[in-house]
Amino acid sequence: MKIPRQNLRTPGPTPSPPEVLEAMSTSMINHRGPEFRELIIGITEKMKQVYMTQNRMYILTASGTGALEAAVVNTLSPGDKVLAVSVGYFGDRFTDVTRVYGADVIKMDFEWGTAADPDAIREALRADPDIRAVQVTHNETSTGITNDLASISKVVKEESNALLLVDAVSSMGCVPLPTDELRCDMVCTASQKGLMVPPGLSFVSVSEEAWEARETAKMPRFYFDLPAAQRYLERGQTPWTPNLSLFYGLDVALDMMLKEGMENVFKRHKHIANMTRQGVRALGLELLADEAHASDTVTSVKVPEGVDAGKLSAIMQTEHSVVLAGGQGVLQGKVFRIGHMGLVPEEDIREVLQALETTLPKVGFKPAHAAAG
Ligand code: PMP
Repeated sequence: MKIPRQNLRTPGPTPSPPEVLEAMSTSMINHRGPEFRELIIGITEKMKQVYMTQNRMYILTASGTGALEAAVVNTLSPGDKVLAVSVGYFGDRFTDVTRVYGADVIKMDFEWGTAADPDAIREALRADPDIRAVQVTHNETSTGITNDLASISKVVKEESNALLLVDAVSSMGCVPLPTDELRCDMVCTASQKGLMVPPGLSFVSVSEEAWEARETAKMPRFYFDLPAAQRYLERGQTPWTPNLSLFYGLDVALDMMLKEGMENVFKRHKHIANMTRQGVRALGLELLADEAHASDTVTSVKVPEGVDAGKLSAIMQTEHSVVLAGGQGVLQGKVFRIGHMGLVPEEDIREVLQALETTLPKVGFKPAHAAAG
């Protein structure tokens, strides 16, 4: 199957730069040999720079959900109380993982499109001193909200001894997340978002406290057993066969990011996110996310009354080669999403906005631009 050129605006997978794709076509090597040892040691160090951490770092051949599962099963036991903070579809996903393994989950839901309230988390922790872990999504991809992780972390660490487990799948490498400064015990991310590498690798950092928890954690684990990952990492290996091609690509992507400088990468994301939001609003469309917490990696746009979201996306793709993402869960048909994580030239966002301007009238909405012009 031949894939034509697309302006891929899904919030993961994100487009991979040509240098990354080229690196991925390198021949296979022995994953128990010296070349791989050099590769994994180098990548682990570079990932720590992106995470701004001195903590342990493990690379898993799995999508982001694998890292979430690793965070849960390596620290908790069935029956442990977990405060699961959710502001959307992926917060619910993280909760599902914890529930499946038998934790006693206290679910804290916030309206989709709003951010988690640190004061509510404080209340919950005060009400229940036995809470062993708090899990939270840094950036909720389904709604386009970035939670105030600094305030949440402050509350968690002030009010409890709970571990802070963070889903940073759609924020790491795009939005500042100083893992150590924010005392995040486990931070999970994946290759196919801000890291600009195809899907299939995920990452988890582990604080000393979280590492200690592995000794008493009774949830079953095999593929995602981090002590096994540690034993193998000491030899420059992974316990199971790693996706070598993705390691090659990641090595190049990390070099690109670190050469640009993480501060510049963050600034670039902020700029392109502002440009996207302004452009969308100028068309007369409404954003789902609370302005104060709007994400710099993905924008959720409300589908105007009477517009068929499926038809809008189909025209955008067939006539303009712009690939949007739809709504998830209860937001299906109610929002469409524009991803802007990774390397996104301004031109790509301009193309999306122009395509929306010509497509919206075809699905029954008169954009503000067209109305003015
Ligand atoms: N959490 C968040 C915030 C995500 O955006 C995603 C993927 N969209 C996931 C978890 C799940 O990751 P994966 O699909 O790579 O398993």
